[in-house]
Formats: sequence, C-alpha cells, structure tokens
Amino acid sequence: MEKRRQDKKHRHPLVIVNIMLLFACILAVIFLVVTAKQKHFDLSIKGIQSALQQTSSEQAKTKKSTTSTSKESQQTSSASHASKTKTTWTKQTDPVKVPILMYHAIHVMDASESASANLIVDPTTFESHIKRLVDEGYYFLSPEEAYRALTKNELPAKKVVWLTFDDGNEDFYTIAYPIMKKYGVKATNNVITGFVQEGRNSNLTIDQMLEMKANGMSFQSHTVNHPDLSTKSADSQASEMSEAKSFLDEKLSQDTIAIAYPSGRYNSDTLTQAASSYKLAVTTNEGIGEASDGLLSLDRIRILPTTTADDLISTISN
Ligand SMILES: [Zn+2]
Repeated sequence: MEKRRQDKKHRHPLVIVNIMLLFACILAVIFLVVTAKQKHFDLSIKGIQSALQQTSSEQAKTKKSTTSTSKESQQTSSASHASKTKTTWTKQTDPVKVPILMYHAIHVMDASESASANLIVDPTTFESHIKRLVDEGYYFLSPEEAYRALTKNELPAKKVVWLTFDDGNEDFYTIAYPIMKKYGVKATNNVITGFVQEGRNSNLTIDQMLEMKANGMSFQSHTVNHPDLSTKSADSQASEMSEAKSFLDEKLSQDTIAIAYPSGRYNSDTLTQAASSYKLAVTTNEGIGEASDGLLSLDRIRILPTTTADDLISTISN
C-alpha cells in the first residue's frame, strides 16, 4: 500500500514531466516552424526592403538631380533677373520728378573759349558732381528709364537723376566718360548728326559712341544741323528731327527716343513734328522734369562752371 501510494506519488509527477516535455517539444516544433517561416519572411522582407531601398535611393538620386536642376534654373533665373532688372520699380503717389542735368563740354577752359565759358565745366568740378551724386545715392537714368518713370509714375530708386550732355563734343569721350566709368554711372549725349557725318573735329565719332554705348552711355538726337527750330518751317523742322533719328537708329542699331532742341528753342510746330519721331524732348527751360511739363518739352537744370556739388544737390533735392 505504502509502495503503491509511493508509486502513485511518483507516477503523478512523472506524467506531469512527460506532459511538460511533450508541450516543450510541441512548442519547440512550433517555434522552429515559426522561426523558419519568420526567417523566410524576414528574407523576403529584406528582399523587398532592399528592393525598396534601391528604388528609393534611385528616387532620391533623381530627386537630388531634380533639385539641383531646379536650383540651377533658379540661379539662372535670378541671374537673368539681375541682368534684366537690377532694381525694383515702385509706383509713386505724387507725380514723379526727374532732375535732368544739362552739361555741354567738360574740359579745362582755354582763354580763347571765353565766349562759350558757360558751357564748359572743369573736369575736377564735374568729378565732384558725379562723386557727390553717387555718395548721396542717386540712381542715374537712361532715356528709356526716364520715359518709364515719367509715363508710369514709378521709380527705380528714391533719388534719380538724368545726366544729359548736348552737342556731342569729343571731350565726352576723352574726359567725361572715363570719370563716369570710374563711378559706374551712365549719361546721355545728344549729338548733332550732321557734324558726326562730316567727321567734324572735336566731335564724337560713331566708333567712340559705339564703344561708350556698350558701357551704358546713350546717344540721342540734337537734330542734323543744330538750327533754331523756332524759326524754321514745319517741314524743315520735321526733316531736321526725323533724319537725325534715322541716322542714329541706323549707325547705332537702336530706337532713338529722345531729342534736345538746339539752344532749347522750339515752337508749337516743333512739338507736333517731334511727336512723330520721339517720345521725349528736353529744352533749356530751367526746372525739374515732370510729366506735367509735357513729355516733348521737359525742363532741365543748367550746370554752370561755377555750380558746386552743394549747389547741385540743393537744387535737385527740392
Ligand atoms: Zn546744342
């Protein structure tokens, strides 16, 4: 009894152990099967993952190259933007005012030139004007920009100025131009086309004009023969103005848009005839240019040999 009981006692734990072993075996088999499946799954996942990684890295490469392309295109567009429009034009609430300075010759006056002394500005004085305008932050307009400012009532900068020279003297090339180039500013010279055609001494040549034009200078009209337009017939005025334009358009490959009336003289016929060839005309009437002057009779500020940089700034800043 005792033994049986003992056996019974012993058998019971053995059964449990066997069952546990069986469970362990089943679990092991399940584990192995699952692990094998998992391994296979893992392998397939790895395969998919690596395939995906490859695809995504390729996509990334493509994206990268797209990004660099778009960056490059951005750079290109910003570069072309910069070269086309360096500045932002801002609409103005008050009518735009364009100080149009009038110079003629820039050189050291010879005693023999006393009769035209008022038209000659010393190079040192001229440089002091340019330096001061640059220091004060003035933007130097081209004729096209002056036209835009006056017709659209917008400005490329807070302070603007349009430098004009009349008569196409050679010293514009030999003296004024190097000074303006030094400061990186631009100006307009109104040339007498008949004098250019004749190859008159001390007058600008086409080659000089082309060279300066490539560096920002502009050449506009001052008629063919520099007559007093107010004393001429309407037809004569028309040919003086239109022939000068045709000459400059052809020789300088441009659309000449502006004229300076010789000695600032004009009449009602002049205004009518100028309209068929030009968009802008400047006079010698003293004042700051405004659209209300009429685009074909704009005021200018005469620069005298005695005009100091202070005089200039106080005149144009009012
Ligand atoms: Zn003149």
